[in-house]
Amino acid sequence: MARLRSKGATMDLVRRHNITARKKFGQNFLTDDSVLDKIVEAAGVCDKDHVIEIGPGPGALTERLAEHAGFVTAIEIDPQMIPALEEILGDKDNVRVICADVLKTDMGAIAEKIPDKDLKVVANLPYYITTPIVTGLLESGIRYKSITVMVQTEVAARMQTGPGSKDYGALSLAVQYYSKPEIVTDVPPEAFIPRPGVGSSVIRLDLYDKPPVSVSDEALMFRIIKASFMQRRKTLQNALKNNPDVRIPAEKTSAALQQMGADPMIRGEALTLEQFAQFTDLIKG
Ligand code: SAM
Repeated sequence: MARLRSKGATMDLVRRHNITARKKFGQNFLTDDSVLDKIVEAAGVCDKDHVIEIGPGPGALTERLAEHAGFVTAIEIDPQMIPALEEILGDKDNVRVICADVLKTDMGAIAEKIPDKDLKVVANLPYYITTPIVTGLLESGIRYKSITVMVQTEVAARMQTGPGSKDYGALSLAVQYYSKPEIVTDVPPEAFIPRPGVGSSVIRLDLYDKPPVSVSDEALMFRIIKASFMQRRKTLQNALKNNPDVRIPAEKTSAALQQMGADPMIRGEALTLEQFAQFTDLIKG
């Protein structure tokens, strides 16, 4: 049974180890038992899994993950958390804590250490680097089965939405190319200490074995997508001709759109993932 059950137990641990929540590391500690349990349940963590947790903090989620998973690797940037994690996880032999910046960590090497288990990422993410963490995981080529993370509610909405919404963008398309997103639950600020200034949501991304659309040049498609949303109020023609990463002449864009049966004056924000793939193939061809 987890020792960090109840807000009081987590606060006591934090106090005894003189931990101060550092804003620069996005530290908002989750102290609501029902939310912690819901994250583990939503991720379907079982003994066949190797769970990578990003940012364990004082360890309330880590402890629960270790009770259900075959193995847990927890990556924490802040050294002040390590003694608290050692206290909470000391008697568990299926957890490894690494004190490092996740963005500079070789995740492939971590995955290879436990080769015979399903790889899952579970985390209450530091919000200041949500996008680089999530896109980095998705684009890594490492076979994660799922990624279950707490993110800002607004970011969860961006991951799940399609054309026609103001939230639709490069992140939506990257997430939906690699995975099927599902928002699990919204979480109020009171579930954390200190309270974040924004709403939070848990989202699970189930990674595809094969993307839902096929495209001849994945890297080009994502460069086109990024260029389209960098100037999202412009027509696709104008956005792509001016962008130094793609520089596609307006006539070429217009011809490709016509071949697709789309309006040559369309904006990139109106295209679906399937249309971006088709457009990329026509440009490449
Ligand atoms: N898991 C804990 C919880 O649920 O209470 C803490 C979550 S807190 C929102 C985010 C955690 O990520 C903090 O512990 C913070 O120090 C850690 N963190 C921030 N930036 C990081 C980075 N670049 N690499 C690894 N961990 C990081």
